[in-house]
Amino acid sequence: MSKSSLVQVTIPAYSGNYTKGRSGKKIEAITIHHMAGILTAEQCGKLFQAQGRNGSSHYGIGNNGKIGQYVDESNTAWTNSNFDSNCKSVTIETSNCENGGQWKVSDKALNSLIKLVADIGKRNNLGTLVKGKNVTWHSMYTSTACPGPYLLSKMDYIVAEANKINAPKPTTVPTTTGRKIGDIVNINGVYTSSTSTNKLIPLKNKGTITKIIKGARNPYLLDNGNIGWVNDGCIVGSSKTYVVKKGDTLSGIAKKYNTTYQKIASDNNISDPNKIYIGQKLIIK
Ligand SMILES: [Zn+2]
Repeated sequence: MSKSSLVQVTIPAYSGNYTKGRSGKKIEAITIHHMAGILTAEQCGKLFQAQGRNGSSHYGIGNNGKIGQYVDESNTAWTNSNFDSNCKSVTIETSNCENGGQWKVSDKALNSLIKLVADIGKRNNLGTLVKGKNVTWHSMYTSTACPGPYLLSKMDYIVAEANKINAPKPTTVPTTTGRKIGDIVNINGVYTSSTSTNKLIPLKNKGTITKIIKGARNPYLLDNGNIGWVNDGCIVGSSKTYVVKKGDTLSGIAKKYNTTYQKIASDNNISDPNKIYIGQKLIIK
């Protein structure tokens, strides 16, 4: 059985309304049709159960968006009025939500159609979906009004949205930024290990980076493990520790960090900005 897991109701078509197998052909395309009527998936399925109908489709989407299956994908449905294309296609009948006019389709049906197109494309390894190549429609094969002006106008959209669904999800590897051991960071989350994906609420919202594993999911160890591991997504603010060297002045240090000596003095409770000593640890925020 080749069928989409999106199927909500299965109504097998009468065996005389389709051909068993694919006559040696490979599935190369998805063909979109409209029902030229407002139907449910069940009502459409009923039509293909009728002996002598001489027509069928693999799938049908009701006006309410419900997805039905009538012919297994391993068999050839008779939908496209072209046997060769039937052998190479998975076909979908889509209910309209108006009779005539633009033959509009409800948003629910359209969304189901997009999902189904994406799913059929993925399972049959059709690759990137391309309008007119592997996503086709009835009037490409025969003179017919099917699938109607509305669905025709939506082909670019259907293909683009289906490709979005099938696009590989980007794996978010947090990049190690310029943070250094000794940086003090404010955090809103913490992990129990460098690889954990379970973000926890930290007991302390501030800590010092004491170890860095470059490229790790959570590269920074805080307070030698007393707090845990964090990544850049946990860090909501940071400060640095500067150790005063010979010849330093508070204004010189302030310049280096793009801040003011008044701010450093205030952040470090220094009452006299002229009095700092070698080896003194200053917090630069
Ligand atoms: Zn058609």
